[in-house]
Amino acid sequence: MQYVGSQVLKPTHDGCIIKRDGSIIKSVKGEIEMENADLSTLDGVGPAIASKFRSAEITTIEAIIVTPPRELSEKTGVGFNTVLKIVEAARKSSGLDFITAEELWKKRQEMLKLSTGSKSLNELLGGGIESQAMTELIGEFGVGKTQICFMLSVIAQLPMEKGGLDGKVVYMDTEGTFIPERIFEIASGLELDPHETLENIFLARAYNSSHQCLLTGHLFKFCPENDIKLVIVDSMIGHFRSEYIGREHLAERQQKLNSLLHKLLRLTEAFNLPVVITNQVQANPAQFFGDPNKPAGGHVMAHACTHRIYLRKGGQGTRIAKVIDSPSLPNNKVRFKITEKGIEDVEEQIKKNEG
Ligand code: ATP
Ligand code: MG
Repeated sequence: MQYVGSQVLKPTHDGCIIKRDGSIIKSVKGEIEMENADLSTLDGVGPAIASKFRSAEITTIEAIIVTPPRELSEKTGVGFNTVLKIVEAARKSSGLDFITAEELWKKRQEMLKLSTGSKSLNELLGGGIESQAMTELIGEFGVGKTQICFMLSVIAQLPMEKGGLDGKVVYMDTEGTFIPERIFEIASGLELDPHETLENIFLARAYNSSHQCLLTGHLFKFCPENDIKLVIVDSMIGHFRSEYIGREHLAERQQKLNSLLHKLLRLTEAFNLPVVITNQVQANPAQFFGDPNKPAGGHVMAHACTHRIYLRKGGQGTRIAKVIDSPSLPNNKVRFKITEKGIEDVEEQIKKNEG
């Protein structure tokens, strides 16, 4: 079974694919040809425009709806006014202009929760890492952000009844810290075929912030076509911090970061998947008491992320996770540990004096 946007597709024995409404999309060497599918059902989209959209990797109605019209026009080369008409047709066809709170409630019922491997961490997150949301893992070097991302990349492949999302993963690695051997180790610990697990993780190595933006843009095509159920960006901000040095470049940096974060947010909505990003901390000279660090990325990062989780080291090699900002989760904290098998619970929970 494949999904294109919200459409459930069934492959047939002769390589064709049947949509839920019964229409057939022809498949070319196993690839779904989108031009005759979703886009050309829209008013104003002929074969020429469909082809321009396809070249810009905008292949679904969902992608048209969530991408700002100016960006669509720039990417496709189609005139802004024509794009506006197409966007209007896309919105009408999806009936998404005004929805009742009840409809939103229903949409949120489709929200999926991905297990972290630790019961207490799952509880902290209200059941697990949510789809339709962006979760940010914040903390100093060595605290375990990447380890959690590795664990999630493996668990996401499990069936839903085992806490997974029954799908594949995109792992955007901006720092070159993706270690396949560690995935191998975690998968083996869960008694999964490690080679198959590695096959299901698509690695996107981003070499600089522009490359990171480009790769993120590709996700709107890549995710629906490859059964991607989880997107990880580790780390979100590393390139931005090293490329835009000094106050004079701060505004430009924040603008680019903001646009990228919103692209990722749109991805979570368009394809009902979780995006997990990691963020570093920076010294906060104004802080006299308590933790002298604060998350990097300022207000832009704080506003874009749905759930912000702050990680720090606890006693006896454990780690402490605390929700520092979320529209639905209380600001609780729990303890977990990093082991050979990935992320696990610790027997006793946080002692008060570690608070
Ligand atoms: P950075 O900001 O530098 O990227 P990070 O938060 O991503 O840091 P991780 O690389 O996730 O940090 O965590 C590294 C830590 O994970 C190590 O210091 C170690 O404590 C723990 N760790 C890594 N591999 C294992 C393992 N196989 N068994 C147990 N613990 C491990
Ligand atoms: Mg890391």
